[in-house]
Amino acid sequence: MTSGPHLPQERRLVTAIPGPKSQELLARRSEATSASLGMAIPVFVAQAGGGVIIDVDGNSIIDMAAGIATVNVGNSADRVVANVLKQVQSFTHTCFTVAPYSGYVEVCEALNRLTPGTFKKKSLLVNSGAEAIENAVKIARAFTKRQAIVVFEHAYHGRTNLTMAMTAKNIPYKEGFGPFAPEVYRVPMAYPFRWLGDASKITEEALDLVTHKIEKEIGAHNVAAIVIEPIQGEGGFVVPSKGFLPGLAAFAKANGILFIADEVQTGFARTGDFFACNEEGVEPDIMVTAKGIGGGLPLGAITGRAEVMDAAVSSGVGGTFGGNPVACAAALGAIATIEEDNLVARARHMGTIISKALEAMKSKYAIVGDVRGRGAMQAIELVMPGTTEPNSKAMMDAVKYCQQKGVLLLTAGTYSNVIRLLPPLVMPDALLEEALAILDEAIAASN
Ligand SMILES: *Cc1c(COP(=O)(O)O)cnc(C)c1O
Repeated sequence: MTSGPHLPQERRLVTAIPGPKSQELLARRSEATSASLGMAIPVFVAQAGGGVIIDVDGNSIIDMAAGIATVNVGNSADRVVANVLKQVQSFTHTCFTVAPYSGYVEVCEALNRLTPGTFKKKSLLVNSGAEAIENAVKIARAFTKRQAIVVFEHAYHGRTNLTMAMTAKNIPYKEGFGPFAPEVYRVPMAYPFRWLGDASKITEEALDLVTHKIEKEIGAHNVAAIVIEPIQGEGGFVVPSKGFLPGLAAFAKANGILFIADEVQTGFARTGDFFACNEEGVEPDIMVTAKGIGGGLPLGAITGRAEVMDAAVSSGVGGTFGGNPVACAAALGAIATIEEDNLVARARHMGTIISKALEAMKSKYAIVGDVRGRGAMQAIELVMPGTTEPNSKAMMDAVKYCQQKGVLLLTAGTYSNVIRLLPPLVMPDALLEEALAILDEAIAASN
C-alpha cells in the first residue's frame, strides 16, 4: 500500500459523492453514532496524504481542511509515522506523572524554544485544545489570585463546560448545554469588515471599548487573563486590526493581567509564521496550542512564563493521558518536519497563491464581501450583493458544489457565511490552484 505522502497528488472522481461504499458506511454511521455529530463531507476515508484524501470508493479529493488544521505537515507524514512506529513498539503509556519519559520533556523544550519571547518558559501537555485552554485558565487564576477571564466576540475556545462559556456562538456550540461557568466576560472584537464605528480608527476605538469594559464593569484588578485567538478560527478567520493585539498585551501588562494567546488553530506554521503572534511581535504570557502540534495525533500544550507555569499547587495539573508518549513522538516528528522542510516559508508561498485567487473572486463576484487571513489560513465572507448582510445560502451552495467536484472545504463564522481554507502545508501548488479554480466556479454559480 502506498503511504499517505506518496499517494498520487491528483483530483480524481470515479463515482458520485458519496459513492456506493461510502453510502453503505453512512447508513451504519447513522445507526451507530450520535446524531449530534456533524460531518463536513459525506465520504469515508481510506487513505490520505500530501494534499489529498482517498475515499473508500477510490475518489481522490483535494483536502482543503487538513483535519481542521491538525495535519499541517500532511497526513501520515514520514517523520511522524517513523517516530510513532518506534514509540509504539517501545511502550505505549506509563503516564508522565507516574513514570516520566524523555519525549514529553523534548516536546516541552521545543515549545519553550519556538514560542515567542526570550524569557524563561515552561510547558504542560494535555489531550486537546479545550483541555489546554482550561489549564491555561486554572494556571492564570492560581498565579494572579484573580478570577475574571476576558474573552471576545466571535471567539471559539472549545466544547467543555468552561470553554463553552468562553466560546461566543450559541448554535451549535452552547444550545441546551448550560448553565455555563461564571466569571467569563465578553468584550468587542476589532473585526474590520463589521466595524460599526470609524473604520480608520478601529484599533483605537476597539481598545477603548475593551478597556472601558474591563475597568468599569469588571474591575481590572479582578481580571486574571485576557484570552484571544490572534486570528479567530471558527468565528470566521477574523484578523484583528493592526495594533489591537499589541494594545491588549500592553494593557494587560500594565494591569497585572496575563495575556493568553489561543493558537490552537493558528499555530505551527499555519499563518506563515511559526505562530500568528509573531506577526506583530506579541509575546503572550501563556500560549495555548493543540491542533497542528501532533501531525494528527491528539495533543495540547500550555507554554508560558516559568513563574506562571509553576504557580499552581503541586499535582494541581496533569491527567492520565496528557502528553501520551505516542502523541509526543508524533509531535517531535511534526515539529522536525516544519523546521527541516521550512513549512513556514511554504505557508507564506501558499498564502500568495491563495490571496491572489481570493482577491480575484472578490473583484469579480458581488457576493464576496471580504477576503482575509494570512498564509495558509484564509477565508472569504459571503454577503448579499452590495451589503454586509450575511449570505449563508451562498456559502452552503458553494461548499456543496466543490464537494461534488472533489474539493473538501470547511465553513465558519458567527453568521455561517464564511468559507475557510486550511490546506495541508505540503499540498503541491498545482493542486492548490485547481482547488481555488473550482471554488471560483462555485462562487460564480452562487453569485
Ligand atoms: C479547535 C479549537 C479549540 C478546541 O480544541 P479541541 O482540540 O477541539 O478541544 C480551541 N481554540 C481554538 C482556536 C480552536 O480552533
